[in-house]
Amino acid sequence: MTDVKKLAKKIDEYRDFIIDVQTQMTACPAITPHEKGGLGESAKAEYLLKVLKAMKFDEIKVLEAKDPASPTGVRPNIVAKYYGENRKKTLWVMAHMDVVPPGDLSMWKTDPFKVVVKGDKIYGRGTEDNQQGLVSGLLVAKALMDQGVRPPVNYALLLNADEEVGSDYGIITVLKKYGKIFGKEDSFIVPDGGNAKGDMVEIAEKNMMWLKFTVLGKQTHASTPQNGNNAFVAASHLVVALRDLYKQFNKKDRLFDVPYSVFEPTKHEANVPNVNTIPGSDVFYLDCRVLPCYTNKQVLDAVLKIAKAVEKKFKVKITVKEVINDSSKPTDKNAAIVKLVTKYVKEVYRNNPKVQGVGGGTVAAYLRNAGFPAVVFSKLDETMHQPNEYCSIKNTMGDGKVFLLSLMNLK
Ligand SMILES: [Zn+2]
Repeated sequence: MTDVKKLAKKIDEYRDFIIDVQTQMTACPAITPHEKGGLGESAKAEYLLKVLKAMKFDEIKVLEAKDPASPTGVRPNIVAKYYGENRKKTLWVMAHMDVVPPGDLSMWKTDPFKVVVKGDKIYGRGTEDNQQGLVSGLLVAKALMDQGVRPPVNYALLLNADEEVGSDYGIITVLKKYGKIFGKEDSFIVPDGGNAKGDMVEIAEKNMMWLKFTVLGKQTHASTPQNGNNAFVAASHLVVALRDLYKQFNKKDRLFDVPYSVFEPTKHEANVPNVNTIPGSDVFYLDCRVLPCYTNKQVLDAVLKIAKAVEKKFKVKITVKEVINDSSKPTDKNAAIVKLVTKYVKEVYRNNPKVQGVGGGTVAAYLRNAGFPAVVFSKLDETMHQPNEYCSIKNTMGDGKVFLLSLMNLK
């Protein structure tokens, strides 16, 4: 066994540590204070700071985002750094502290905020999302510190608030207000997404755009259509006309699991409550997931053109509003961190990892847009947000090994 492999093997000894940290974290329900009864991340952060301070980190900082809704007035984000031989460069593992509410309690077999361990599984809200990733990140530091080893570059944990509800008080504030903590050559692992096989190394996502269409005609009695203008009919034609987007933006990219852009009409708001009225307005939404080779602007221009034609033909007024308009730069598949994570996933899990893009909406997009290479990887059974959420201890250890081996081989 090489020295680095021996170093990683140490992680196998940390079962008790994993269970203990998972138990204490789960006992602090870090639900957004913007939800009824939510207490935010402060208590969980307090506990984690104790854990981090008991370890040999060289720097520990709390980056606060002001939030009057939080009982403490702030939402904490934690940075813990362990210096490497080259202090100009840092490998970050980014995880989030907040959890989603337990949902329907009758669906839980155990108390969601009291950990139950059964063999390899730790049950409780948050144990998988995102405490598994957080703990794997901790294991890397613990293994190095316990063996008195410095990595070739700095190793740091970034533990965020507010990931589940949009990251305003989390990574968005960290990048905006505390961006100086990051160096130009830094790279990130985000263990907050993956599958049960542990073979998905995610480096890109589609641009996401949600559009709201409001079609205005003229309401009238159903028996006298000549006196009105049926907005529902015009909206229906518009829905069909928008299918043309699939033809206009038909490029394929094998990196993505669905290798083309998608444009799907989804939500349709209720119009008139009674059957004998012709609706004067009709509202529906389009969910667009666009390959990075196109811009959202190109799609929006095409959408407006289609809407104009329907407006003219049906003599209605159509407004198109952007509800969400997010784009994300892909991480280069040749970036060092991508190559290393892929290599060590294969080695640790003996599988065939694929470098992949996803449909959109991961927290890594903020990092990629800020210019950092970011890899989303973890091996998970995908129980997040469900009742009886659990994490696997074996996966927690395996992911920790992947991160440690990648770190030790980063130059
Ligand atoms: Zn998550």
